[in-house]
Amino acid sequence: MYRVLIGLGSNLDSPVHQIKTAIERISSHACISMVKCSSFYESLPQGPQDQNSFINAVIALDTELEPAALLAFLQSIEQSQGRIKTRHWGERTIDLDILFIENQIVDIQLPDLIIPHPHALTRDFVLIPALEIAPDWRLPDGTLLSAALSNCLKHDLKKCVLPD
Ligand code: ADP
Ligand code: MG
Repeated sequence: MYRVLIGLGSNLDSPVHQIKTAIERISSHACISMVKCSSFYESLPQGPQDQNSFINAVIALDTELEPAALLAFLQSIEQSQGRIKTRHWGERTIDLDILFIENQIVDIQLPDLIIPHPHALTRDFVLIPALEIAPDWRLPDGTLLSAALSNCLKHDLKKCVLPD
């Protein structure tokens, strides 16, 4: 059993609804226990600017699934929510990334799975929600995740006020 942080993002087809749906689907897996969910944040697109702003959130969960099996499960949810590959850093109904795994001594470097996620440490829309739910989180090299904040790219990140 290990704890993992997952990043969620959407900027198509009711993004808040897409993220809530994905969280429900993730929680429904028999081998996954949901631990925490961050606030939802709105940010300007990072890639092409002619697209809607993104909603992002981070969740913490406990699981016994191998990381590759967890990725396959997350990708099946992306597919079920109609994710279509368009342009690089383009619009998407849902993006589910494995960001960090707790107590992981070595980085995972598989052809299609890299943990910590290659861009996690440079994105404020990842780091800020991750630190909201896991302020003491440490990276594989022992450094605090919070130390990465000063080096990350700054966007115009706003916490969303959601109706109940
Ligand atoms: P991005 O999330 O960077 O915008 P995509 O969601 O299109 O890009 O993912 C592209 C590929 O990244 C996926 O096919 C997946 O195999 C790979 N990938 C590598 N490491 C990870 C990770 N930690 N979490 C999710 N996907 C990953
Ligand atoms: Mg992704």
